[in-house]
Amino acid sequence: MKFSGCRYIIFTDLDGTLIDEEYSYRDAEDALSIIKKREIPLILCTSKTRAEIEIYRNEIGINDPFISENGGAIFIPENYFENLNFDKRIDQYCVIELGIPYTRLRGAIERIRKGGYKIKGFGDMSVKEISTITNLGIREAELSKKREYDEPFIIQNGDEREVLRIIREFKLMVTKGGRFYHLTGNNDKGKAVRILTDVFRKNGFDGETIGLGDSENDFPMLRNVDIPILIRDGPREWNTRILKILGRG
Ligand SMILES: [Mg+2]
Repeated sequence: MKFSGCRYIIFTDLDGTLIDEEYSYRDAEDALSIIKKREIPLILCTSKTRAEIEIYRNEIGINDPFISENGGAIFIPENYFENLNFDKRIDQYCVIELGIPYTRLRGAIERIRKGGYKIKGFGDMSVKEISTITNLGIREAELSKKREYDEPFIIQNGDEREVLRIIREFKLMVTKGGRFYHLTGNNDKGKAVRILTDVFRKNGFDGETIGLGDSENDFPMLRNVDIPILIRDGPREWNTRILKILGRG
């Protein structure tokens, strides 16, 4: 079968992992060329949108499946696998959908705001505003606004714990990425990684999975790979929330 000779699959986060704070993957270029030469599937698994991920895939020159918006969906290029069950076709992809529609997430943000809490999501921000907060260029900020399964937000004013409690009452989930909280359905990177790993196994893969990430929202992914690699937050710093989860904070 197609993946029976494959020894590794690599799942990687983008921000703070494959790419640096200037959104460049220059430092990873040597590693990327080895990965490509050895034909190791490289699965981008990020809170970014499909539109943003497509830019990186094109630039890096990879054609492997990817996981968008914190496990909201798995996008698989047509004919990539011989054996595959999927939910729907979107453009040139077979899609396994795990998240809930963006309009429902926006509804929750608006209800929380009506309750008197000052929170602001990407849907409330102009492209220019997103560009200022994230340091993304205007074009990239535009792509980051094309949300399908995950709403990044900030709490401007109010009790963080109270806001997070209300979100859980709505049966939605919130995780913390590098810059934003992320509001999602009951999906996370870990579930998506598990499902996609199973698909690879059904197509002959018998090797080990590697996962790389730096933030709290990467933790479910790191727990669902054979070889988890936690990237430092800065030259000396580890993510303090992750240290707490590990009992080392
Ligand atoms: Mg990150």
